[in-house]
Amino acid sequence: MNPSLRKEYLAALGLENWVLRARSSAPTAEIAGSIGMVPPATLAASPANLALGPEGREAGGAHEGGGAPIEAREGREAGVDWPELEARVAACIRCPLCSTRTQTVFGVGDRQADWLIVGEAPGAEEDRQGEPFVGRAGQLLNSMLRAIGLAREQVYIANILKCRPPGNRDPSASEVAECLPYLEQQIALLKPKIMLAVGRIAAQNLLRTDLTLGRLRQQVHRFGVSQVPLVATYHPAYLLRTPTDKRKAWEDLKFAREVCARV
Ligand code: URA
Repeated sequence: MNPSLRKEYLAALGLENWVLRARSSAPTAEIAGSIGMVPPATLAASPANLALGPEGREAGGAHEGGGAPIEAREGREAGVDWPELEARVAACIRCPLCSTRTQTVFGVGDRQADWLIVGEAPGAEEDRQGEPFVGRAGQLLNSMLRAIGLAREQVYIANILKCRPPGNRDPSASEVAECLPYLEQQIALLKPKIMLAVGRIAAQNLLRTDLTLGRLRQQVHRFGVSQVPLVATYHPAYLLRTPTDKRKAWEDLKFAREVCARV
């Protein structure tokens, strides 16, 4: 990306003074260490453990909170193609949110994308427009993506829930249980190279853990039997309220980009 354009995007993130590190040609182990994937001691003891394969030493990820990996369950929408899946979501009445929504918010973007961005649930504006991340948080998400050289149209964006919880409350466990099979099938169809979970709710539900976002970020998790690398970062709505954490989010984005480059 043109450096002055990148500077503009970083400025939009409030990160004017940050210089993007040159893309390194160092082996995975060094990069993983330098970006905090594993502590240096572990690095020195066993560089082989840093491989990005299922055998590598990584975060507990989908297994951390106990229970089977998500894709190991019988997928309720398994085998369904994009049009049929979209139609099922649009007609969904599996939970009470169907009675308060304006419309479902299926997902948007390139269905061949390498990157899948997963948020929490539609907000008021998303409920109105039928598209994820179109409000203020969406604008910031676009800038965050731009800062790592990705246009919104180049990624796929979806949420844990397809319907807006009234008052933007947190999704309930039963709403997540009813809705997650739709996202699982989107993932099966998309086959992303990397998943970026934005926000605590998305990260905890995808990884089936109660760990805080602070504990989950800066690690490579794995999602489902296909072991898609998953990186967690802050939700743009949180970053709008807490701009001092934008620098950490920027670190996470660079980290995710490094991970994706090595898949
Ligand atoms: N927040 C989310 O998590 N998803 C959206 O689509 C919008 C805001």
